[in-house]
Order: sequence, then structure tokens, then C-alpha cells
Amino acid sequence: MNAIAGTPPEDLNLLPDHEFRLHVRRFVEANYPAEIRNPPKRLHWSENKAWYMILAAQGWLAPGWPREWGGMALSPTKQIILIEEFERYGCARTNDMGIVMIGPLLLKYGTPEQKKSFLPAILQGEHVWCQGYSEPNAGSDLASLRTEAVLDGDHYVVNGQKTWTTLGSDANWIFLLVRTDKVAKKQEGISFLLVPMDSPGITVRPIVNLDLHDEFCEVFFDNVRVPAANLVGEANKGWTMAKALLGFERIHLGSPKQSAYALQRLRQLGERMGVSEDASFQDSFSRLWLDLEDLKALYETYVERLRRGEGLPPDVSMLKVIQSELFQRISDALLEVAGENAGLLEPMDGNRDLHPAGIFINARPTTIYGGSNEIQRNIIAKNVLDLPG
Ligand SMILES: Cc1cc2nc3c(=O)[nH]c(=O)nc-3n(C[C@H](O)[C@H](O)[C@H](O)COP(=O)(O)OP(=O)(O)OC[C@H]3O[C@@H](n4cnc5c(N)ncnc54)[C@H](O)[C@@H]3O)c2cc1C
Repeated sequence: MNAIAGTPPEDLNLLPDHEFRLHVRRFVEANYPAEIRNPPKRLHWSENKAWYMILAAQGWLAPGWPREWGGMALSPTKQIILIEEFERYGCARTNDMGIVMIGPLLLKYGTPEQKKSFLPAILQGEHVWCQGYSEPNAGSDLASLRTEAVLDGDHYVVNGQKTWTTLGSDANWIFLLVRTDKVAKKQEGISFLLVPMDSPGITVRPIVNLDLHDEFCEVFFDNVRVPAANLVGEANKGWTMAKALLGFERIHLGSPKQSAYALQRLRQLGERMGVSEDASFQDSFSRLWLDLEDLKALYETYVERLRRGEGLPPDVSMLKVIQSELFQRISDALLEVAGENAGLLEPMDGNRDLHPAGIFINARPTTIYGGSNEIQRNIIAKNVLDLPG
């Protein structure tokens, strides 16, 4: 790989791919905070903020956003290289719901005022977002949600409960699906609201998971007043946007980052355990590696569609299924190769990068969140294969 001659161009798309890779690698190695390399679990904002702000200062927070809104407008191939280099180095996932979910939604459906007020705040790390979709009785059947918002003058009054709100205790904004018409067909009475988390009447309660980590929360709304200007799109037309946002989420969850990270660790673990030359290890590693290459190619096709400003077809569900199941298969292989180390709840001795059980536990919920894989398969059956419901 050659070094880049001179200063890189402002539009990094102009760099040849190998130079771009080198440029990213150098940047990460020079700037990534060592203390949060290869974190064994999802970090809180207080822990990953430094990296978020470093990316913000570099202009690298939003690889897929248009340049006019502070994004990098990177080609799909370069977005994958960026992901690969971040994963190769063990960079933490940040509190990125602003970047990967609500930002793209506002770019598509927000008013000019909403774009102007919310998009820069995401890129400056002022607004940290969480997702208020799921409720105790509305997960897979999301349209059954009951948190209601009633218009009172120029405010909505919100009452109800959300749950499984990832990093809700870190966020200062939440995007909410709320019921604004109780009589209409269930998909037709839903609206999309942007709510400051410090509004009076909001209570956040952390939920401790299997990993003894308070990664998600329950969020309660008791007569919370939200300016009507914080409605995105039209009242009662929120379902279309809810689905569009799930499409962005599925692209994000279908990105090869988790599998690429886990496969790197499987390679290291094979070396550490002295099995990397064994035929059975090489056989299983090669299969996983080829599947990862297929996933990357598929991912690129959807990123390219987004870049062209096209809608996402229902078959984007396939991407999320393939990614999450590949990640789980790699994490199963990690446990197998780890032998007696598989039971450790901490990284292996002498190597913080290797934490097979941590990766295994992280891989378990991937087939549930963002819409379970059974639901993704139902979507494909109904909307792509035209099978009877
Ligand atoms: C780690 C994690 C983070 C999350 N973060 C967020 C967040 O930030 N914000 C948010 O709003 N939500 C979040 N969620 C919630 C997530 O979206 C829901 O868990 C998911 O949609 C499934 O809903 P549920 O848990 O209510 O399960 P249920 O809907 O009760 O489903 C239970 C089981 O039944 C299956 N099932 C249900 N209906 C059908 C059907 N029609 N056909 C076949 N099988 C079916 C499901 O596949 C699943 O296996 C998170 C979840 C997890 C695990």
C-alpha cells in the first residue's frame, strides 16, 4: 500500500480505494482513544463521546449523509472500507441513532426548519438520540402501540410507556411513535414526534440485561407537553415514516461491521489457540469469510440505492437476516475455538481484544432487535415472494 502524497482532497471519494483505506487507518491509529479499544460491551455516551467528537471534528460522523448537511457522501465501497478499518482497530460503536436513524429520516421528511435545527445538533454531539418505538405490548406488532398524543392548542400531550429503549438514559432527545387517532385503522392513527428527554413528566428506568449491563431502559410519559412543531410529517401519517426509519435501521443493522469485527477476532483466537493451521479451522473460517464477502457485496447494493435517493425495497429485510445470522455463526465458532476460555465473562488473559463470550452474548439479541428475523422473513414472504399471509 502506498502512502498518500500531499494533503488528501476534501472529497475523499476522489482518492483511490487503497489510499483511502490507508488514510482512514492512519487516522484511526493516531486518534482513537486507547482506553476504549475493543470494548466488551456497548459503551455509554460518557465513555464513547470522546471518539464521537473526534469523528465530528474530522467531519467523519455521517459517511452516508449528503455533503451539504455535513455528511461525507461516500461511495458504498468507501463506506465499507471505513467500516472495515474501524472494526479492524476495534473502535467502539457510538450513540449513533441520530446519525443512522433520525438524521436520514429528517433528510427525507423533515421541514427545512427541522433539518436546520436538528441535523447540525447531531453532528456537533449536542443532541444524543434514542428510539421510542417498542412498548410492552407492541414489539413485532408495532402498529398496536398505545402511547397516545392528544393535541392541546399548540402542544401534544403524551401519555404512555416505551420499552427496550437502547441507551435511553444517555439520550437528551427521543423520537416517538404515538397514537393520535384511536378510532382509525391501527396503522392510520400513528404520528411521529421529536421529544426532549428533559421534558417534565418523563421518567427513565434502566433495565439490566443478561450481561449485567444497563444498556436499555423503560421510558414513561405522564402528561408530557411537546410543541406541535416537533411533529415530523403529517399527523396520523407517521406509519410511512416509521417504516422508512426501520429501513434505514435495517441497512445499518445489515452492515457487515459486527460480522467483520467478530471474524477478525476468530482469526486472532485461532492463532492464540494454536489451531489456525488445522484443516477444520481453516474450513470453517473460509466459509464464514466467504459469507462475509457476500454480505459486503449485498450491503453495497442497498447503500448505493440510498445514495441515489431511491427508496428501500422490502427485500432489505434479507440483509438484516443474513448479517445477524452470520454474526451468530461466527460467535458460535469463537466459543468452540475458545475451549475453556469460552466461559470467561472477561477478555482472555493478556489480550483485551479477545472476549469470545462477550461477542457471543452481543450476537444473541441481533436476531431480535430492529424487528425479529421471523418478522423479516414474514415481510419477504409477503412482499417479495408474494406468498399467502
Ligand atoms: C438489545 C435490544 C435493543 C433494543 N433497542 C430498542 C430501541 O432502542 N428502541 C425500541 O423501540 N425498541 C428496541 N428494542 C425492541 C425490539 O425492537 C423488539 O424486541 C422486537 O421488535 C421484538 O418485539 P418483542 O420483544 O415485543 O417480541 P414479540 O413481538 O413479543 O415476539 C416474541 C417472539 O415471537 C415471534 N413473533 C412475533 N410475531 C410473530 C409473527 N407474526 N410471526 C412469526 N413470529 C412472530 C418473534 O419473532 C419473537 O421471536 C430492542 C430489543 C433488543 C433485544
